[in-house]
Amino acid sequence: MTSGTSPRSAIVIGAGFGGLALAIRLQSAGIATTLLEARDKPGGRAYVWREEGHVFDAGPTVITDPDALRELWALSGQDMARDVTLLPVSPFYRLLWPDGKRFDYVNDGDALEREIAAFNPADLDGYRRFHDYSEQVYQEGYLRLGTVPFLKLGQMLQAAPALVRLEAYRSVHSVVARFIKDPHLRQAFSFHTLLVGGNPFSTSSIYALIHALERRGGVWFAKGGTNALVSGMVALFERLGGTLRLNAKVARIETEGARATGVTLADGTRLSADMVASNADVMHSYRDLLGGTRRGRTKAALLKRQRWSMSLFVIHFGLSQRPEGLAHHTILFGPRYRELVNEIFRGPKLAEDFSLYLHSPSVTDDSLAPPGMSTHYVLAPVPHLGRAAIDWASEGEAYADRILASLEDRLIPNLRANLRVKRIFSPSDFASELNAHHGSAFSVEPILAQSAWFRPHNRDRSIRNFYIVGAGTHPGAGIPGVVGSAKATAGVMLADAGAA
Ligand SMILES: Cc1cc2nc3c(=O)[nH]c(=O)nc-3n(C[C@H](O)[C@H](O)[C@H](O)COP(=O)(O)OP(=O)(O)OC[C@H]3O[C@@H](n4cnc5c(N)ncnc54)[C@H](O)[C@@H]3O)c2cc1C
Repeated sequence: MTSGTSPRSAIVIGAGFGGLALAIRLQSAGIATTLLEARDKPGGRAYVWREEGHVFDAGPTVITDPDALRELWALSGQDMARDVTLLPVSPFYRLLWPDGKRFDYVNDGDALEREIAAFNPADLDGYRRFHDYSEQVYQEGYLRLGTVPFLKLGQMLQAAPALVRLEAYRSVHSVVARFIKDPHLRQAFSFHTLLVGGNPFSTSSIYALIHALERRGGVWFAKGGTNALVSGMVALFERLGGTLRLNAKVARIETEGARATGVTLADGTRLSADMVASNADVMHSYRDLLGGTRRGRTKAALLKRQRWSMSLFVIHFGLSQRPEGLAHHTILFGPRYRELVNEIFRGPKLAEDFSLYLHSPSVTDDSLAPPGMSTHYVLAPVPHLGRAAIDWASEGEAYADRILASLEDRLIPNLRANLRVKRIFSPSDFASELNAHHGSAFSVEPILAQSAWFRPHNRDRSIRNFYIVGAGTHPGAGIPGVVGSAKATAGVMLADAGAA
């Protein structure tokens, strides 16, 4: 079957947050947009499983910068509240260390300062200066440059003086350490890069902006789970007249000379469009979908040399009770920080110890589990498959047991006795379910040498009507990042279509 080509039509491959946000922007501007998703549900990393009354959101749980999401509805004069309810989360995170120390990362400035003073009163002044620094990088790195498509080296050169002034060549941890002395507090204000796939010891200090982003916009949770936000975006896209096709795996992007003409699906269906954008993994897009072209092969060879973010080992579980006193988001640091993080990013094997992130959404929303019960996931950052070729099918269960035993010991007594449902999502699943290169959870690693102009571009250099959106392009991973990438990519596409 071949669909007709409307004068201004687009295909977006992949319905992750980036693909959805791009499709909404294009459709809002009058471009007839078809969104093609390989899986049976939209969302990508934000997929959802429902099992025995538990709702398991697969990935993102911390929603920041809600205004960037509201903007998608506002484009067509609509209100996000029609489709999605955001609930505030407090504390943003609870941080726990093996020595029994606890830090509640809250938004109330006075309460946050009391938490800091309890660790080291002398760090209060340093924290205030760190907050000022975070504000500056937020203004420069997020507001000014976050949604600019870096297509030309000149744009990078223009941004360079500000990046030098803000010492973007330093790591987040080194900047935090300059302001703050207490080792626990240094972890508390540097771990955030891990949430977008960055090593705090090598990710550019520009990522210190996450602190200002959270303090300004808050941390939110979508009522019904992150999947409800995905459904809300789909509802908006379809109301605008866009077409979402599920179970529509793209096998090939079709080209004629230096132009993309459409795609062929795995079942042989051929679809044409004036513009093609990919939200799929950037390596998969070039190596597999454009593998029949010289450009695809050249770019894939370049991408192979890039550094890729770590992966994650995730255990979703439902309990027959609701544990007392939990926070919605808990970080359980392990006995080591720098050494562990370096092993996660470099391999070559799984470390004996781990740091964990526990998601307990039933704390905020009791609709996600049967009455009196609770829904959770716990994840450990682990090396990607290119760094440590672990056979997760055979090692996953034992690793999961160690993690659940540690959680039981440190936070949730009787966890295993109350376990109703459990499912594991390992690096191998990121590779097979999401076509993620090396099973990376966050795509190309966000180091300075792979950021902005140095990151895969929002528009391809040679195939001029082929575009990238999502974690693999500028600005990078995380919901605000990929929603920002959609704004950058849509800007270029609409200008190219003469619709800007
Ligand atoms: C466990 C986990 C927790 C996270 N927590 C947070 C958080 O709390 N807050 C936050 O902001 N970020 C978080 N992130 C990061 C965030 O989820 C991701 O950066 C973001 O969702 C990635 O979106 P994306 O647009 O790049 O697309 P993806 O979500 O990667 O989606 C890409 C889509 O393309 C589809 N696709 C692939 N190949 C094809 C093909 N050939 N044909 C058709 N479709 C194809 C895939 O099936 C997928 O649906 C988390 C990530 C993970 C994994």
